[in-house]
Amino acid sequence: MIVQVGSEVLTQVAKPVRRDEATRALFVRMLTAMESANGVGIAAPQLGVSKRMMIVASHPNKRYPYAPQIDPICMINPELLEQSAETELGWEGCLSVAGKRCQIERACHITVRYENDEREVIEGEFSGFIARIFLHELDHLNGITILDRAIEVVEI
Ligand code: ZN
Repeated sequence: MIVQVGSEVLTQVAKPVRRDEATRALFVRMLTAMESANGVGIAAPQLGVSKRMMIVASHPNKRYPYAPQIDPICMINPELLEQSAETELGWEGCLSVAGKRCQIERACHITVRYENDEREVIEGEFSGFIARIFLHELDHLNGITILDRAIEVVEI
């Protein structure tokens, strides 16, 4: 159900979502797939849909016991406006990269803009683990996976 690396859709730059385009049904599919896989985020290309839609949904779980608890944030056409020069290393898994975890360097603080599911434009700042999820999912919209950024890869 979730597309795995090796599939072309995960290497493509996803298309912007038009203003009049319906998004609710796809967000519902994304949420369901993410929750059933116990993920903390998902991007539309992981369901084989090359559109700029993603969900950031941190909660503590077995893989990320110290993850903050937030309600899932549905994002349309997300943009990274600024990122801190300060970075940190962290281990990431991916629902599209079964059996591996990768150590990845990401900015500690970011400023972002996106449209929510009501098509309101939101600007916000994220730090730490939430920033990491945002950057991970945004990478999916640009055809990049953790295997492309990994400093170290371990099998799990
Ligand atoms: Zn991923």
